[in-house]
Amino acid sequence: MTGATTAPAHSDITAQRGEPLVVLDGVNKHFGDLHVLKDIDLSVNRGEVVVVLGPSGSGKSTLCRTINRLETIESGTITIDGKALPEEGAALAKLRADVGMVFQSFNLFAHKTILDNVTLGPIKVRKQSKADAEAKAMELLERVGVAHQAKKFPAQLSGGQQQRVAIARSLAMEPKVMLFDEPTSALDPEMINEVLDVMAQLAADGMTMICVTHEMGFARRAADRVIFMADGAILEQAAPEQFFSNPTTDRARDFLGKIL
Ligand code: ADP
Ligand code: MG
Repeated sequence: MTGATTAPAHSDITAQRGEPLVVLDGVNKHFGDLHVLKDIDLSVNRGEVVVVLGPSGSGKSTLCRTINRLETIESGTITIDGKALPEEGAALAKLRADVGMVFQSFNLFAHKTILDNVTLGPIKVRKQSKADAEAKAMELLERVGVAHQAKKFPAQLSGGQQQRVAIARSLAMEPKVMLFDEPTSALDPEMINEVLDVMAQLAADGMTMICVTHEMGFARRAADRVIFMADGAILEQAAPEQFFSNPTTDRARDFLGKIL
C-alpha cells in the first residue's frame, strides 16, 4: 500500500484550490489496547476549512498529531500535497514546516522576544536571512494585531496575544495547511474572539485549515465542513448548517444537546 494511490497525480504549489491536499486513507492508531483512530478516511481540499467536533477522548487531538507525525500510525496512509508522510530526518522536518500546528498551550519560547519567536523557524529551517525573516515576521505580527509587541517577551503579553503570536509563528513557515487543536480552550473568555477573528480571516484568505474547537459560532461562520468524531471514528460529516440543524446520529444529537 502506498500513498501514491490516493494522492493527486501532479501536486505542486500551482495546483488549483479544491484539489485534495491532506488525505488520510484507512488510518488506524492504538494506544496499547485502546483503538484511538479507527479506519479514518478523510480528504481535505486545498483552501478548505474543516472543523472537527466530538466529545473529549474521541481522538481529535490524536488525529491532528498524526497529520504532522507527532504520532505514528499502525496502518493506512497519510499524504500531504501528494507526498506520503516521511519517517524521519530532513524530510520530516520539511513536512513539519508544511503543516503548521497551533495548540491549546501557546508554547512560545519564554526567553526569546516575540519577534525572535517568529523568525527562529524561518531562519533555521527555511534558511531565510535574518533581515528577510524579520520583515516577514513584522508583516505577520501586523496581520494578527501584535506588531507593537514585537520586542517584548511572551510573559508580557496576554494569553490571547500570545496565541496570536503562535499563529503568526506557524504562518511564518509558509505552511500548506494549518492545524488548530482547541486554540482558545486555555483563554479567558474575553480573549477568545480576538483569536477566532484571526482564524476566520486566515480562512477567508484561503488557508487550508483543520480546526478542533468547541466554538460553534466559529464553526458556523468559518467552516466549509464539520466532522463529528466519537470513539475514534468519524460518524458524520456535513456542511455546518446541515450538521447543526439536522445531525443524523444519536451521538451527534447528544453531543449538540450538551454544548448548544
Ligand atoms: P480528544 O482530543 O478528542 O479529547 P485524544 O486524541 O486526546 O482525544 O485521545 C483519544 C484517546 O486516546 C483518549 O482515550 C485518550 O485518553 C487516549 N490517549 C491520548 N494520548 C494518549 C497517549 N499518549 N497514551 C495513551 N493514551 C492516550
Ligand atoms: Mg484533544
